[in-house]
Amino acid sequence: MRIQPVLEKSIVGSIVKAVKARPGVVIRKRHGTAMGVAGDPDLYGTVGGRHFEIEVKRPGSRLTELQAQRLREWARAGAITGVAHTVEDALRILGLEA
Ligand SMILES: [Mg+2]
Repeated sequence: MRIQPVLEKSIVGSIVKAVKARPGVVIRKRHGTAMGVAGDPDLYGTVGGRHFEIEVKRPGSRLTELQAQRLREWARAGAITGVAHTVEDALRILGLEA
């Protein structure tokens, strides 16, 4: 039996679902378009009054240099930032672990 690779899209969906179940958090997917800024993270929102930015990567997949640069930009401006490979990673970044 072949092991199916986990799609980033499905990790993003699971994170959004898990975070939306928590009170007091707004989370949005950032859709890549020509109008957007290249390398900006996949997810953004507000938790506990703070803006957050999360880049989602498949397990074993690493940030590109541009993605790392964008996360640093957001962090320098005061956002909560992180890289999530799993739902648990995202909850930990947001301080929402069970
Ligand atoms: Mg991504």
